[in-house]
Amino acid sequence: MILKVEQAGDAILRQTARTLTQSEINSKQVQEFIDYMVETLRDYTGVGLAAPQVGSNVRIIVVEDKDDYLKDIPANVLAVQKRRPVALKIIINPVITDSSNDDVLFFEGCLSIDGFRAIVPRATSVTVTGLDRYGNTVSYDADGWFARIIQHEVDHLNCALYVDTMLSKTFMTDTNFKKHWAKSTSSKLSEYIEESR
Ligand code: ZN
Repeated sequence: MILKVEQAGDAILRQTARTLTQSEINSKQVQEFIDYMVETLRDYTGVGLAAPQVGSNVRIIVVEDKDDYLKDIPANVLAVQKRRPVALKIIINPVITDSSNDDVLFFEGCLSIDGFRAIVPRATSVTVTGLDRYGNTVSYDADGWFARIIQHEVDHLNCALYVDTMLSKTFMTDTNFKKHWAKSTSSKLSEYIEESR
C-alpha cells in the first residue's frame, strides 16, 4: 500500500516521534506498516523516509539508494558527494551515536517539501545504531551521501526539517536546481555557497 506523504505544514512533521517497544515491533501492525513505508519510498523514488512523513508518530526510518537512481548522475558529482548505492535499511529507534565534526554542503530535497531544494550542511560521517525489523541491534558507519540521508531522516523523528538548518538563500525550486546546479561540482558551486552563507 502506498501511503500519503505529509507536507510541510502538516502538524505531525513538527511532533517528536516516540520510541517503539519490542512487542510493538513484533506486531503485525508495525510489520505491515514497515512494508508500506518501503513501498511508499520506492513509489516516490526517494532515498529515505521517516514514519512521521507517512502519518505515524513513531521512530522508524527506511533508507535505500538504488543503483538505478545513480545512473543519470555524472560520475564526478557522485564522487564529490561520496554517493554510492545503499541496500535497503530499516532502522527502528535510531540513535546517532557519533558524528564527524566537519560539515559538508550539498543540495538536498525532502518528499515532505515537494518541489524544492536547498543546500544543507551535514556531518561527513555518522554512526547510527538502532534495531532492525526483527528487533536485532544494528549499527552502521555511514559516510558521504548515506550519512546525509541518515541525518535527514533522524531529524524527521526529532521534528526537524531541512529548512531549519539550510542556507536559506539557496532555497529554490526543483526546476531551477535541475537547470542550474544538478550537474555542478565546479568552483561556481563553492562560490555560490560562500555567497549564500
Ligand atoms: Zn525529508
